[in-house]
Amino acid sequence: MSPGPGHGAVTAWVRGEIEAGGWVRAGAATAERLRRRHGADAVADLSLGQPLEAPEAVREAFQRAAAAVRPRRFGYMPNLGYPELRERIAEDVDVAGVTAQSVAVTVGAAGAISMALRAFVEAGSEVVAIAPYFSEFRLYSEVCGHRLRVARSTEDGALDLEAIAAALTGATGALILNTPCNPSGHVTTQAELRGLAALLDAHRRQSGRAVLLVVDEVYRRLIYPPHRRTEPLHHYEHTVLCRSFSKDLGVAGERIGYLALHPSLTGAESEAGMALCQRALGYVNAPATPQLALLELPSWEADATPYRERRDIVASAVAAAGLEAAECQGGLYLWVRSPWEDTMAFTAALAERRAVVVPGVAFGMPDHFRICFSVERPALQVAARALAEAAASPGE
Ligand code: PLP
Repeated sequence: MSPGPGHGAVTAWVRGEIEAGGWVRAGAATAERLRRRHGADAVADLSLGQPLEAPEAVREAFQRAAAAVRPRRFGYMPNLGYPELRERIAEDVDVAGVTAQSVAVTVGAAGAISMALRAFVEAGSEVVAIAPYFSEFRLYSEVCGHRLRVARSTEDGALDLEAIAAALTGATGALILNTPCNPSGHVTTQAELRGLAALLDAHRRQSGRAVLLVVDEVYRRLIYPPHRRTEPLHHYEHTVLCRSFSKDLGVAGERIGYLALHPSLTGAESEAGMALCQRALGYVNAPATPQLALLELPSWEADATPYRERRDIVASAVAAAGLEAAECQGGLYLWVRSPWEDTMAFTAALAERRAVVVPGVAFGMPDHFRICFSVERPALQVAARALAEAAASPGE
């Protein structure tokens, strides 16, 4: 067979990554095929972490931002974003010593993580991720010339300090901590942060190398009581926060987030470095309209109620089907143990019943699967039925 157009054009790394996965987007493609066959309402696409529709106030702020008149409205701007937005973000971070100089406005949390790795972690270093982990962490690291090492969390999703200690080497440059965690839903506690900080401090004393703690807080405003956010910047100096408005304000496609540095990392060189990396990564600056929209909004607080309600519905459906799931303390996902040894077969059985989930292999733990509950209510009913039927079927 003759090769198609473009054959051999991509790099070996890109080809390898394409062959290795893209599970979440593959799930979305399966859901699209099912929708064409059965109709949109008959399919539960529980794959992509798509936020619910943006609230009215957010949409109005974007409209005002689009119409804003100011000098160079459509021109280049400072690489790190509008100064007044950086000021406001520093106020929102609300930690003594964090100033506008600590802040870069980025192209989502993805842009913030990439910038942190590019600006502060030498090429050739290892980056530790904690499984189950958001699979893009490997892409972000490898693009910056790092290698990802994985340490498992405990059974209930908490930090396993022994496993992390075993993963740290003289080559470790960074550790990515995602709280609330996609996919496990675990929210890191004060005690865990304290333990992690002590471990990283001890590692610095032994190896002479400070590990950068990259805290990915994309779901920070979607934490469900009684669980609460704790402040990573209070525990360990070499910490950066990577945040975005993608999920809590429902504007994932607008690509807006930020990187905030611990005061000890803040300074003229870091600021110049972040600006340089914004250029080196090819983003140049975060898009203007969402920056202006954030300035238009009097508050960035989000209402987590619609998500909490959906979490409760799906958690009940999972329990009613006799399946075992981690407690979702925050974020958009339920992390469920596969009742069959062959998780792929079980997720296929769910897809046959028109519910599309992501197999755990995508997150470094093949014995689980992830359900995204950020969907409209009819889809939750399709999901509940599919879970009950597949779990009750003779299976393997
Ligand atoms: N980190 C985690 C854990 C995520 O789940 C996502 C998106 O799903 C991102 C980062 C990327 O966020 P953004 O869309 O703001 O770049």
